[in-house]
Amino acid sequence: MLPEKPSKNMTIREIIRRTTQRLEAAGIDSARLDAEVLLSFFLNCDRTQLFKNYEEQMTRDQLGAFDKLIVRRLSFEPVAYITGRKEFWSFTLEVNRDVLIPRPDTEIIVEEAIGVCRSAGCSRPQILDIGTGSGAIALALAREIPDARVTATDVSAAALEVAKSNARTFGLEDRVSFILGDLFENVSGTFDLITSNPPYIGAAEYDTLASGVKDFEPRLALWAGETGLEFYEKLIYQAHGRLREKGWLLLEIGAKQHEMIHSLMMVHNDSYRDIAVRADYAGLPRVIRGRRE
Ligand code: SAM
Ligand code: GLN
Repeated sequence: MLPEKPSKNMTIREIIRRTTQRLEAAGIDSARLDAEVLLSFFLNCDRTQLFKNYEEQMTRDQLGAFDKLIVRRLSFEPVAYITGRKEFWSFTLEVNRDVLIPRPDTEIIVEEAIGVCRSAGCSRPQILDIGTGSGAIALALAREIPDARVTATDVSAAALEVAKSNARTFGLEDRVSFILGDLFENVSGTFDLITSNPPYIGAAEYDTLASGVKDFEPRLALWAGETGLEFYEKLIYQAHGRLREKGWLLLEIGAKQHEMIHSLMMVHNDSYRDIAVRADYAGLPRVIRGRRE
């Protein structure tokens, strides 16, 4: 059994090995990576500096303080909530427990949105991102499409505070405006592009989520009624009145939902054309798009 609290100084090499073993013993798959990310966060350096300073010693006091972070990870708290930051697109975004930790898969909707804007040749596009959370999608689009005006909404005031802070950090606060409300509530005007990564976890799937997700990430960001389709029904129905002629609706979807959501968009066939599903890099359906006539 490994000692919980070391009784002597240890080198960075030893502390990484010991921390990896503790995290592995708790069943955490990414143990070695997490140990390195948390230690570099604690020492305020990047991971490569850890390797350069492998034989440096950490004092008992430092080890005691670092141990507090490890105890949080041992209870399955996600690394991003412990460090307060997460890489997404070209940003390191601030995150806390009021927002979903942005997922790499969500970069697909950003890629698609940039693609449809470029191929439509929109100038000064008006973009709306519903349920913006940390601001991930909205800020990436504002950065990549420099003449775009972006509106980002969320029903959570606390989430919007995080998104606004991220917008200020990246100097995008003049191009992104934030609105508190339920879906299109308080939103005026029409848009060339509407994006959303809405909650899409249904009741049965919610029970099976990893405890790092279920016990730490906001239920409000994940839970989407019995079927998981609640938000798609409303978004698909309400968005067409908010799209300009030839404007696009792009939605992130759960891997098993594409047929149902495709049908929902087909029901609104008078409103949506060119409906297509794009897979993520694991080959799973991830984004659906449709264009207003
Ligand atoms: N867009 C972020 C991302 O991709 O990382 C966050 C997506 S998270 C899955 C869904 C977001 O929708 C959460 O921030 C949640 O607060 C917000 N939300 C939930 N219900 C909403 C509603 N009725 N209207 C607007 N936003 C809502
Ligand atoms: N992709 C998220 C997960 O892994 C779910 C996000 C959502 O509901 N939009 O849990």
